[in-house]
Amino acid sequence: NAQVIPFGLHGVAREQISYGAQKVTDGLQAAGYQAYVVGGAVRDLLLDRIPKDFDVATDATPEEVRRVFRRSRIIGRRFRLVHVMFGEEVVEVSTFRSMIEAEDAETDEHGRLLRDNQFGDQEQDAARRDFTANALFYDPSTQEIHDFHRGYDDTRNQLLRMIGDPATRYREDPVRMLRAVRLSAKLGMKLEPATAAPIGKLKGLLDNVPEARLLDEVLKMLLSGHSVECIQHLRKMHLHHGLLPLLDVILEQPVGEKFVMLALRNTDERLSQEKPVSPAFLFAALLWHEVLTAWQSYQKQGERPIPAMHAAMDDVLAKQRAQLAIPHRHDAVMKEIWLLQLRFEQRAGQRPFRLLEQPRFRAAYDFLLLRCASGEVDQELGLWWDEFQEASTERRAEMLQPEG
Ligand code: ATP
Ligand code: MG
Repeated sequence: NAQVIPFGLHGVAREQISYGAQKVTDGLQAAGYQAYVVGGAVRDLLLDRIPKDFDVATDATPEEVRRVFRRSRIIGRRFRLVHVMFGEEVVEVSTFRSMIEAEDAETDEHGRLLRDNQFGDQEQDAARRDFTANALFYDPSTQEIHDFHRGYDDTRNQLLRMIGDPATRYREDPVRMLRAVRLSAKLGMKLEPATAAPIGKLKGLLDNVPEARLLDEVLKMLLSGHSVECIQHLRKMHLHHGLLPLLDVILEQPVGEKFVMLALRNTDERLSQEKPVSPAFLFAALLWHEVLTAWQSYQKQGERPIPAMHAAMDDVLAKQRAQLAIPHRHDAVMKEIWLLQLRFEQRAGQRPFRLLEQPRFRAAYDFLLLRCASGEVDQELGLWWDEFQEASTERRAEMLQPEG
């Protein structure tokens, strides 16, 4: 049964809810349905953070939601959701769902749930969520929070606690182990001991998760703005092995580790300044030392630098793809960034000018700076390019190295 926490206690005001989410809950309630803001948004507001988006949960079916809001569409195959549009804002509306009862649940041989799209009531919808902090319902019209799992106290105590028996919940969906790591790193919440305890033993279950979902979650970590903390947590729990397999190798080479951590810190920094971050750049950084190693070995076998680089890039991408499917659409940009690295060394004649005109120059230059900062290449090279970009025509002529 729900504990109802009044505004006077939690202090989250209706105005803190986005325009669209207020419209959706008001509209559904006026039509006679239950409707609450739910999940990450309520948690974030209690933690004094700005929610990234507002999700609504309701007892109306997707078709009923569509009937209330003309500007909406049903999405998703496994569990259908409704997206309701208000100008720029999209509010995701989900119908209360239940966990399928243990007896009828379809699971694989490791206990992973294969289907979980059965409608339910509010209480069941709370119970199928992962952490108590993620299972709070906020009603904008009464400004009350409905709490079935003591999530309010946990959130106030900065504690991330799994609902139900943690081991069972990880077996149902092993991705919850990664969510535990990501959310605790991002929100600065502690993992409650019983929630953390089974992870070490169950981490092997991540091997059974479809690759696309794994990649999704890894990307969320890397682009969370707290990637460094995420990696540190993953390592502490020994979860990084086999996840980004090349991360294992890289993190064990002193220069490689320094480079990857610098790249991640740089990404976190950019995100905190609300600058764009490209996944391709990040992947290029994560794999760079693999590429370097393969490149050197092809050159040792007598291959010339450029063909050796092409062979090295293809090998590394193929190997990585066998373990964690980085989408092909990033290949072209990753390869461009890598190939352009060879051209920074060429500082004579027209070559530096042609390099400056490359559409990917900026990304490649940022990449070069990371290489300098990690100690892989001499700082002097980065400084030269820094000056050359801004220099006058006369100064540039002086800077060019003799041909030969
Ligand atoms: P973020 O701030 O990163 O978006 P979030 O908690 O909102 O965090 P979402 O992936 O947007 O995460 O999920 C929305 C809600 O759906 C969660 O708050 C949680 O209640 C529920 N949920 C998401 N993934 C799972 C899962 N694997 N198992 C159970 N519940 C989940
Ligand atoms: Mg969310």
